[in-house]
Amino acid sequence: MSDPGFRVGVGFDFHPFEEDGRLVLGGVTIPFDRGLRGHSDADALLHAVMDALLGAAGLSDIGSLFPDTDPRYENISSLILLEKVFRLVRGKGYRVGNVDIVVLAEAPKIQPHVPAIRANIARTLHVSPEDVGVKATTMEERGVIGRREGIAAQAVALVYRDRPETGTR
Ligand code: MG
Repeated sequence: MSDPGFRVGVGFDFHPFEEDGRLVLGGVTIPFDRGLRGHSDADALLHAVMDALLGAAGLSDIGSLFPDTDPRYENISSLILLEKVFRLVRGKGYRVGNVDIVVLAEAPKIQPHVPAIRANIARTLHVSPEDVGVKATTMEERGVIGRREGIAAQAVALVYRDRPETGTR
């Protein structure tokens, strides 16, 4: 099959709440009485975006690239990891077209923070904020999300080829 020049990827992530700690989504610290547990800053939204971009570019996944056994990634800002992913995607000869994200959270309200989240991601991926969709939904008090045990995020990304591949397979 010939290369159509554009590819899509999908990503998903979940992190459980913990009593202490910061809640960071899309690189924005959101005031809340709990944070998310994880090796990095537990930014489930950016983790989903990164896996979507990596999948679109035919690369591996964040679990392989940034293993949670590596002390370098302890408490690291996921915006720094997103920047690394962006460079990998560019290294494969792709630019980012757009990303679209759904956050699944019973609480807190995500909507007030959407403009800042879009700006963070747009700046890092060299796209316009209109190319970064951020939506949020509750799970109507059902399941692990509905019981407020954590937050999940799902993302899709489109990348397009702007020059021959420079990276090695
Ligand atoms: Mg994660």
